[in-house]
Amino acid sequence: MTLREPQGEREGLQPAIEEAARVIADSQHVVALVGAGLSAESGVPTFRGPEGLWTKHGEPDLRDYERFVEDPKRWWEQRLERTSRFAEFAQALDEAVPNAGHFALRDLEEMGRLQHIITQNIDNLHQIAGSQAITEIHGNRIKLRCVLCNQRWAYEDVSLDELPPKCPDCASGVVKSDTVMFGEPIPRDALDECINQSRMCDCMLLIGTSAVVYPAAQFPEDVKISGGTLIEVNPNETPLTRISDVVLRAPAGEALSLVVERLRSLPLR
Ligand code: NAD
Ligand code: ZN
Repeated sequence: MTLREPQGEREGLQPAIEEAARVIADSQHVVALVGAGLSAESGVPTFRGPEGLWTKHGEPDLRDYERFVEDPKRWWEQRLERTSRFAEFAQALDEAVPNAGHFALRDLEEMGRLQHIITQNIDNLHQIAGSQAITEIHGNRIKLRCVLCNQRWAYEDVSLDELPPKCPDCASGVVKSDTVMFGEPIPRDALDECINQSRMCDCMLLIGTSAVVYPAAQFPEDVKISGGTLIEVNPNETPLTRISDVVLRAPAGEALSLVVERLRSLPLR
């Protein structure tokens, strides 16, 4: 028995892999819309679902951004004290490394089969895996961002001696974590790129996202309405299953590796 047999035996998976590979090979502009599920196999918990962080620890502070706007100095002081209820989440992120799913997306890009990743994840694992074309709709935890000019900075490039920190570039904007807080608008540049990508897209992979968070949930609907194909990669049913054309009912690491393998055996465009 080969190692691969049990994967292929997952009910209905192999024909769906065939179909997904065929659709991707026939498409001109493939975009992956990624959610927390992709990083689950890297040990980063999702927010929703039975094992989700919110299920275990309660809902997050939905007034986070409002508090930041009211008193950025206080917000920064609390942040630097690192007294979050979600310290477990921060530790999981610190320790996480990319899994087979991240590497499969990197491979698809290198093969010319994937044009862009729109990720809702903040964990920086796409970059570590080597993907290039990425829009982070919810920001990146290792970066800071100026609220005025949207310039992103590494932590070491911004002085935290005086709080709240000021933007080294425009000098008047306050700097916050790049991660988008509850209640905070998606940064305009990221949103514009997502809309642009969704317009060009004729095949969207919906990977590990329960797609209940707007505006991300809108992009697959737009692609579908304009005649594109949706491929869902998720071990569980989601609100997007209903409008998906192909469903890979398996963990992302397993499903995406099989798609890459199948595509490698197809002739190049
Ligand atoms: P979610 O928690 O609402 O949903 C996660 C989805 O992943 C579910 O549909 C679940 O069925 C699926 N899933 C679980 N294991 C999977 C696997 N191995 N392979 C594929 N799919 C799997 O997450 P969401 O819809 O992305 O929304 C929550 C928001 O929270 C995100 O927008 C993100 O900004 C943030 N978040 C980020 C991280 C991260 O950076 N890694 C982790 C948790 C939450
Ligand atoms: Zn600035």
